[in-house]
Amino acid sequence: MEKLDKLLKRVGELEETIIRQTQDNKNIIIISHLDADGITSASIVAKAIMRSRARATVRIVSDLDKSVLDALGQAGFDFYVVCDMGSGLAEQMDASLGSEWVGIDHHQIPDNEMDRSNVLNAWQFGYDGGVEICSAGLAYLLAHNMNENNIDLAWLAVVAAVADRQDQGKGRRLVELNRKIVEDAEKAGTLEVADDLIFYGRGTKPIHEALASSSSPFIPSLSGNKDAALAALTSAGLDLQDNGRWRSVSELSIEEKRKVVEAVIPYLTSSQEKDVIIEEMIGEVYTLSREDQHSQLSDAREFATLLNSCGRMKKAGIGISICMGNRGGSLGEAERILLDYRRALGNYIRSTVGVEGKVIEGGRFALVVGDGIVDEDMVGSFTSVLSSMSNFEGKIVLGKTTNKENVVKISARKTRTYDQPVNLGLFFREAATTCKGQGGGHDSAAGAKIPSSNFQQFLKILGQKLNRVP
Ligand code: C5P
Repeated sequence: MEKLDKLLKRVGELEETIIRQTQDNKNIIIISHLDADGITSASIVAKAIMRSRARATVRIVSDLDKSVLDALGQAGFDFYVVCDMGSGLAEQMDASLGSEWVGIDHHQIPDNEMDRSNVLNAWQFGYDGGVEICSAGLAYLLAHNMNENNIDLAWLAVVAAVADRQDQGKGRRLVELNRKIVEDAEKAGTLEVADDLIFYGRGTKPIHEALASSSSPFIPSLSGNKDAALAALTSAGLDLQDNGRWRSVSELSIEEKRKVVEAVIPYLTSSQEKDVIIEEMIGEVYTLSREDQHSQLSDAREFATLLNSCGRMKKAGIGISICMGNRGGSLGEAERILLDYRRALGNYIRSTVGVEGKVIEGGRFALVVGDGIVDEDMVGSFTSVLSSMSNFEGKIVLGKTTNKENVVKISARKTRTYDQPVNLGLFFREAATTCKGQGGGHDSAAGAKIPSSNFQQFLKILGQKLNRVP
């Protein structure tokens, strides 16, 4: 059987299990992760269950561990759907939740969970869960299997895939199973795909502001600096206004877009950086056709940032509400959360990078210490921003903070020019377990939590692994 057939067979089995729960009127809970993939996964499953005339509770958590699972197990639910988390924790889930659970995930899975029939994980079927499909993509396949009309939910999985930086095909395209989901979303009339400059605020902001808002890629001296971006674009001869109204990137002609790229080139120092950044700047853009085209929800990458900010700022419910179709008040609230989120990240960077004692150089990695500064739910976002800064180019960058229970939360990201063969997700799972913690993730992005008393041991293992000459 082809790998797609095997995956779809599992999709069908899980669908039957869930439908049985809905028909038996069982008390279902969907537990999911706080990032955009987690929020969209939960929303897709919840919507599909609602459309089959049943109900489910949604709970968003920052991570799963024994205490969270035990509390869930005692909360009186009949059936659990665990999304975007749980790989490596199957035995713990059996112990805490009993046999009444299914998992939908794309994180790397240990060998002993490969044959689990109550789990739908991309890796079980030979798909790369870091690039080819995310949890929301799998949730969408399940929802679509439940009812073909759920094709109108495919766009949510596109938002999730770009949120998880799965746009790694040439020209930042989504590939493999994600591509099929893109096609479904187009077929449903919810998505338009085109090649363009990938700037935050492409359709909504003045061009210099969109350029300055770009943190991925991070353009030294221009990212975060509107005045410098305005000066660079003006001296390149671009007409930034039309009768006193600021134009947006999406209004520019191809020739003018080329001028924008040329205006940026002098700000890129190394030629390696030049190639990588230019490649990241231009690519496939995903426009959500049913959204107000003047709102930031019209661009899938901006939609993703909005959802991530809701989850990370402990307001995941607002993100869920938006994914379920609410706009108005929920959107206004989400926009306020996004401002706070950006402000918080800016403060974290200013309080650590370049501040004495906050950056520890470890050879092939750099650790940025955010203890007492960075909120535990924000470490992943903090580290993602660090990884786009030229300061850490060529390294693995780690961000850390310690919570009030004295647990260290640590995130790791490969920078674009890091070139050593290491799978961060597998390594973090192993190293965290050795240090009596829990960790995991993907090839280029991972996280862990460990008791602070074992953090030095963790750092030592990290140094031994990352600085070993291959
Ligand atoms: O938290 P952060 O954004 O750094 O997580 C990066 C990746 O690692 C995510 O896919 C997350 O689900 C995973 N992770 C994990 N176990 C943890 C922390 C993060 O599997 N304890």
